[in-house]
Amino acid sequence: MNKFRVEIDKQACQSFGACIELCPEFFKFSDIDSKSSIEGAEKISDKGAVVAERLELEELKCIKEAAEACPFNAIHITNLKTEEHLI
Ligand code: SF4
Repeated sequence: MNKFRVEIDKQACQSFGACIELCPEFFKFSDIDSKSSIEGAEKISDKGAVVAERLELEELKCIKEAAEACPFNAIHITNLKTEEHLI
């Protein structure tokens, strides 16, 4: 069972790039909106625009470091077991 949920808030993301620099294994700039994107993530849309991306996974690896480095607080992590919001 997956232990964590990672979400990028596309409206908060300002394409600063810290997450991509620190964790290129997961994050890359989207060709569509030039904002941060997670490979294989579910896209959450509202009125035709992608407003968030969501991915559940077993291990955070470099994702926590990337989320902590985001100056716009656009990456959120939830522990699925405890429902605790880590970031
Ligand atoms: S560090 Fe934050 S603002 Fe910069 S690209 Fe990543 S999610 Fe977007």
